[in-house]
Amino acid sequence: MSQVVELRRDGNIAVLVIENPPVNALSNAVRSALIDALARVKDDASVEAAVIACAGRTYVAGADITEFGKPPQRPVTNDVIAAIETLGKPVIAAMHGTALGGGLEVALGCHFRIAAQGTRLGQPEIKLGIIPGAGGTQRLPRLIGIEKALAIIVTGDPIMAKEALDLGLIDEMFDGEPIAAGVTFARKILADKRALCPARDRDEKIAAFKSSGAKYDDLAAKYVKRGRVLDATAAAIEAVRWALELPVGEALQREREKFLALVVGDQARAQRHIFFAEREAAKVPDIAGVKGREVKAAAIIGAGTMGGGIAMSFANAGIPVTVIETTQDALTRGLGTIAKNYKSAVSRGSLKPEEADRRIGLIKGETDFGAVAGADLVIEAVFEEMEVKNKVFGDLDRLTGPDAVLATNTSYLDVDAISRATRRPESVVGMHFFSPANIMRLLEVVRSEKTSPAALATAVAIGRKIGKVPVVVGVCHGFVGNRMHRLRSVEAERLLLEGALPRQVDAAMTEFGFPMGPFAASDLAGLDISWRMRKAQGARAEIADRLCEMGRFGQKTKRGFYLYEEGSREAKVDPEVEQLIVDTAGQLGVTRRQIDAKEIVERILFPMVNEGARILEEKIAQRPGDIDVIWVYGYGFPAWRGGPMHTADGLGLAYVRDRLTDFARTTGDQRHAPAPLLARLAAEGKGFGSLDGKQA
Ligand code: NAD
Repeated sequence: MSQVVELRRDGNIAVLVIENPPVNALSNAVRSALIDALARVKDDASVEAAVIACAGRTYVAGADITEFGKPPQRPVTNDVIAAIETLGKPVIAAMHGTALGGGLEVALGCHFRIAAQGTRLGQPEIKLGIIPGAGGTQRLPRLIGIEKALAIIVTGDPIMAKEALDLGLIDEMFDGEPIAAGVTFARKILADKRALCPARDRDEKIAAFKSSGAKYDDLAAKYVKRGRVLDATAAAIEAVRWALELPVGEALQREREKFLALVVGDQARAQRHIFFAEREAAKVPDIAGVKGREVKAAAIIGAGTMGGGIAMSFANAGIPVTVIETTQDALTRGLGTIAKNYKSAVSRGSLKPEEADRRIGLIKGETDFGAVAGADLVIEAVFEEMEVKNKVFGDLDRLTGPDAVLATNTSYLDVDAISRATRRPESVVGMHFFSPANIMRLLEVVRSEKTSPAALATAVAIGRKIGKVPVVVGVCHGFVGNRMHRLRSVEAERLLLEGALPRQVDAAMTEFGFPMGPFAASDLAGLDISWRMRKAQGARAEIADRLCEMGRFGQKTKRGFYLYEEGSREAKVDPEVEQLIVDTAGQLGVTRRQIDAKEIVERILFPMVNEGARILEEKIAQRPGDIDVIWVYGYGFPAWRGGPMHTADGLGLAYVRDRLTDFARTTGDQRHAPAPLLARLAAEGKGFGSLDGKQA
């Protein structure tokens, strides 16, 4: 027998202990070993019941994702479940930690389920663009009812053991160690002579739903009401419907077929790419094994939009944080906004009042800069001006402890230059959060020419600890995300002059999958910010600049590219803006033409991809996957498309290259000429994906 499953005995009870660290994934080796162990249990007349439990910190937390997309290898999870269901002896799943995906499906195949307090149980497959493929969509509704099962499968969000007990998903909740609890429970059901009734044969909840008069379509409508329905969502809704409409054997068969079709589909492939790229992004080969500084206390300089959100991220992770402002007024305002944000989370029901108080209690305000003295990490989030940043870093150099890590949240400024304002540039690193910083998960960790491995490792580790997705990048104007984003803005403006209207550009991009189009997003962010930056750089954006000159700064002034009614965030078309666009094009001598949605998307996306290729050539990003992660977690790029570089690979880089060559000719903008890396890969018939894990 393989070591991944150990078969132990406790009197007449067999215990199958899965040991496949770190998360006891249900790999082919584990599945085979389970089948072997179950066969021995079946043949051994002295065994009367079996317990399936796991060693380590968790029960089976899911399938082995590296197997997805490859031809399935038997035994599959359904074979393991069939062996359990036909064993003729009670099998108990004793769970702890997390019981997810294939792990939960095996438990659903058992005759009884118990879980430690605090266990999280769920079917998160949808987050990888697939549905459960080993009976989850059929057994779960039979245990907990159609409505709740649909919610768990369509959202992918787990539930806690307590709720699982109330719903009937588990038979008992225990405190303590799973193996002992499993054996005790097994003895009890043997003593009680409890009947074995596999979940697949239980029809009470299905019958109850049918006789309740509830309509399945009404339940499903909740998950399809806005915009696009992804393949996996549609499949999950369909599969749970089969629990109502088909004999269980046929429904299980169809579920399996659906799973197999989805798992090789483009959306699932893209989501797997992002899943792996995210894990890869935090790895920096030359700091492997370097231990950063433990952050027991942090300080944030500036309690504005970003400082407040960053402080909340630390408090949310239980780390005490001191926020420092120049004046009492600014501090009071900043802390007030933080308190308001927590209160609104309480009134939405997403946070308990005592938890909000605890978090607010972790955030301390100060106007005395000397308060940075005890911090292990200081993050500066003051105005985006070099002189201000230099002054702050000079002060930090004097006032913080010698080992403190000093981070800047600058969006564009040169982190090398900022680090030179100190006598310890090796301690300085960029930590570029995204707005709203308490919500957005992306964290660009900017490595300057002098940043030490320890400072870098500290920034990456604390980023993960506060729930962010850190991606290490190098120094250049705007780093990776904003540098590419700037091209998007330039291109969107050009499209207006050439013939498109803001609503057409926005519609094309939302249809592509962004939650908002570029113009609606600019209105939300405020047009004045980029206007100020363009003025500082002597750059112009014909339409946006004119709007700003008219005092149209976006939602905050109720006018921008669109109109907003009082109290509403809904963008309304403004004929005045459309006329301004036509007039401006006329004045500039540009002949406007019809531009279709496909061209809009390509004109916006391909120059960004081209810039991404340059970013790789310059080694500002380590891998194409890093760029994709940045766009998915920081800019709303649809995860099911896998990010800009993955999308370009899917279209074929030769096609992207040829379109870029066309754009360079028609716009006269040489930045559109294909970057050497892109051209090389296209000529070799390869994609950016061929570079993942390697440097460009
Ligand atoms: P903000 O104007 O909202 O806040 C800046 C705060 O810093 C103000 O409250 C100001 O009083 C305070 N401040 C100024 N000088 C100070 C000093 N010497 N000591 C202490 N406090 C001082 O600006 P913001 O939007 O929060 O941006 C802050 C930084 O974050 C900038 O570098 C910006 O580029 C960057 N950033 C902003 C965003 C965004 O979307 N707003 C996103 C990422 C990064």
